[in-house]
Amino acid sequence: MSFTVTILGSGSAVPTNNRFPTSHFISCNSRFILIDCGEGTQFQMRKFNLKIQSIQIILITHLHGDHFFGLPGLLSTMHLLGRNRGLKIIGPEGLENCLRSQLEIGQNRLDFEIEFIALAKNSTHCVYKDKVIEINTFPLNHRIQTQGYVIKELPGELNMCKELVENEKIPLEVIHQLKAGKDFLDSNGMFWKYKKYTLPPKPRLSYAFCSDTKYDERIIESIKGTTLLYHEATFLEIDSARARQTFHSTAQDAAKIAMKGKVKKLLMGHMSARYSNPNQHISEAKLFMKNVEFAEDGMILKLEEI
Ligand SMILES: [Zn+2]
Repeated sequence: MSFTVTILGSGSAVPTNNRFPTSHFISCNSRFILIDCGEGTQFQMRKFNLKIQSIQIILITHLHGDHFFGLPGLLSTMHLLGRNRGLKIIGPEGLENCLRSQLEIGQNRLDFEIEFIALAKNSTHCVYKDKVIEINTFPLNHRIQTQGYVIKELPGELNMCKELVENEKIPLEVIHQLKAGKDFLDSNGMFWKYKKYTLPPKPRLSYAFCSDTKYDERIIESIKGTTLLYHEATFLEIDSARARQTFHSTAQDAAKIAMKGKVKKLLMGHMSARYSNPNQHISEAKLFMKNVEFAEDGMILKLEEI
């Protein structure tokens, strides 16, 4: 079981040689999720040896081109490679119409089902849940409707205390009950108390994604306590007026949200093409948040190691 985030694009609206537009690939306990799909996402997936057909869910934050112009190409490639497994696409209202008309105009068909889930403005709810993970959405503060997402592991089973399992030769059927947190009376009349034989489950990991947005403290409630927070940091403090005007954040804005939300680590991204490197973003963010890094295309973050 593992939880990793691969950065496919860490730039903003104008791509550069080193930074593609926004896209992150998440592998969480055998669930494969793409968040945003800027132009060139499918090429980045190939470059970083990720399987396009593995994607089960695509989450789109908003309908500015640098966050979804890669989708028609990605969907066409999925079709050409013979996909027949369904795909879930979750994003703001209007996304389905836009994609369908792009495909229809060229009489392109897809041999797989897409389930679109349209999010109304200011949605704050669970958009996906299975036995292992849940995904919640929440509103960001940008020029058009923009949704953030948090991917969370669900509470795992309790861990058995290995020594006791070996010493007391605990039968398998008993282990199943104890791991589920249930006391158990076996057929020999032996009563097993789960608290005696188990240890707490491993901590739940979570990944929050905030791009694009201006500084807004209402976000804090939704990202509180997450293991890793991705927050856009398009600008430096010297350009903060431009940040406010364009509904974007500075590195300090991102760091303040991370600090107030008590997240373990902050990952910044969406750097404006006007800056050549993220050194200044990192030093400005460190005034508020010690554990901080700037995303680079191809970077892999293992949440277990944070
Ligand atoms: Zn935007």
